[in-house]
Amino acid sequence: MTADPAPRWRDDELVPISALEHWSYCPRQCALIHLEQTYDENLYTLRGNRAHRGADEPGVASARGVRVVRAMPIWSARLGLTGRADAVEFRGETPYPIEYKSGSSRSWEHEAVQLCAQALCLEEMLGVAVPAGAVWYHGSRQRREIACDAALRALVEEVTHAIRAMLAGERLPAAANDARCPKCSLFEACLPALTARPARLRGFMAELFHPAPDEDRLDSA
Ligand code: SF4
Repeated sequence: MTADPAPRWRDDELVPISALEHWSYCPRQCALIHLEQTYDENLYTLRGNRAHRGADEPGVASARGVRVVRAMPIWSARLGLTGRADAVEFRGETPYPIEYKSGSSRSWEHEAVQLCAQALCLEEMLGVAVPAGAVWYHGSRQRREIACDAALRALVEEVTHAIRAMLAGERLPAAANDARCPKCSLFEACLPALTARPARLRGFMAELFHPAPDEDRLDSA
């Protein structure tokens, strides 16, 4: 029996691997970044940039019998995923992806989706099993190992399809307006307290574009 051929994705159907973490955190944040190309920095993104310093430089190094490939391009033809792994350690033939993050491991479940997507890409590219990888936290200087179990693999596929549908539909998901928002770098662009309540937003828009009384008089003069 032969395996089903991989779907042929158009360029605009490819999903960036980084989008999976954004979607896991907040679908609206994912849409603002990947659909509307809205990006802002805050303390957390600046820390993230610092954690990635050096990880964007491609290179290969070996230490204690482990070969490390940095900034490795990765993709999945089956899922239509594309991106780059910060680092991939090769312990013998088994790849072990590493994702660099700032801070500590409090939000590890979002990073786990991104990390497992990298594992699925490496499995497909190299034809070997990738049972686990790790997130390296710059703030706490700790590694958290992520096991790529069946549930996490299924979540990667589900999130990938959801992002592709969102990009194709070109619609922003509703604002979460919850505990995630104060830490979100897109808080100013998103205005969650306003956009989460359509009636309030409609009222605000009506106020915004209603001519002032003086303008009414000028128009009728
Ligand atoms: S401010 Fe809140 S609702 Fe808006 S994108 Fe960020 S997390 Fe999502």
